[in-house]
Amino acid sequence: MRQAPAWQSELAQAVTDPEELLRLLGLNPAWGGGARAAARTFALRVPRAYVARMRRGDPHDPLLRQVLPLADELEPAAGFTLDPVGDLDTLAAPGLLHKYPGRALVLTTGACAVHCRYCFRRHFPYAAHGGAPRRWRAALARIAADPALSEIILSGGDPLSLGDRQLASLVEALDPIPHLKRLRLHTRLPVVLPARVDSGLLEWLAATRLTRVVVIHANHANEIDADVARALGALRKAGCTLLNQAVLLRGVNDSADAQAALAEALFETGVLPYYLHLLDPVQGAAHFEVPADEARALVAAVRARLPGYLVPRLVREIPGADAKRPLEAEV
Ligand SMILES: *Cc1c(COP(=O)(O)O)cnc(C)c1O
Ligand code: SF4
Repeated sequence: MRQAPAWQSELAQAVTDPEELLRLLGLNPAWGGGARAAARTFALRVPRAYVARMRRGDPHDPLLRQVLPLADELEPAAGFTLDPVGDLDTLAAPGLLHKYPGRALVLTTGACAVHCRYCFRRHFPYAAHGGAPRRWRAALARIAADPALSEIILSGGDPLSLGDRQLASLVEALDPIPHLKRLRLHTRLPVVLPARVDSGLLEWLAATRLTRVVVIHANHANEIDADVARALGALRKAGCTLLNQAVLLRGVNDSADAQAALAEALFETGVLPYYLHLLDPVQGAAHFEVPADEARALVAAVRARLPGYLVPRLVREIPGADAKRPLEAEV
């Protein structure tokens, strides 16, 4: 048998017990009570490589806040729903979302290496509608039959939580479809588990004729350490254009300082800021909300400090709209 790649054992050893996470950070494990209750609706999951970047002894650490379940999540909040972006209305085939002209998104898997508490798909019924390799055939047939599609986005879940053999076969099936020009990955793995970017991954990424775009997901400058920088450098060397999408989160990155530091850290590793998303109103995430007016003021403050190419586009998702909606357009 072939040996499993190192990243898979790192993935299997992710922290899933709130008390263990608190103990690792030198925090009071008794706080795990509320966490345990909240984790019953959406489990805690965080790779140790990501925990290692958290500050010990700081319950407000911006990385910890993104992953620690809190009793706050159980408070009902008006307008916060199970499917806030209307994904279930845009299924073109099992596991295929076609919301926007020219590009479609494959829900490759429901699995993620990390569970972000604010995730807009935290309640998505993957078992019924989501991705699974055995369902790709219908999605591929649909893609092949639609000449208006020029770009396929592999998303999830996190597509890179799948093994390279499955991903390589999916990309090999996309490659010959003549109207496709670009392959895009939406993945948080290069940030939370940089060991995922290994030779097996780089091999199939380099093999496709499609133009490659990798959109990573980092919300705070502290997420980017030397291992992450190395992983991003390898992706760039394999010919990928690197972009970042972030979510504006109360208590994590809701200041011009935090946003400017993130943009600078990204650019140092060859990544351009792409989107800064307003929080999608998903049930359980209301405590992360930053109101739109405050968000606009914050991005204006960043724009006053940084070159234009380092300022992400502030957007929100409106169910039924034909693109992510820039917030400036709403003024
Ligand atoms: C966000 C999203 C995209 C990508 O939108 P871009 O503006 O091209 O980044 C594509 N499909 C779906 C279903 C999406 O949610
Ligand atoms: S990595 Fe992305 S899809 Fe997975 S939990 Fe986080 S935000 Fe959601």
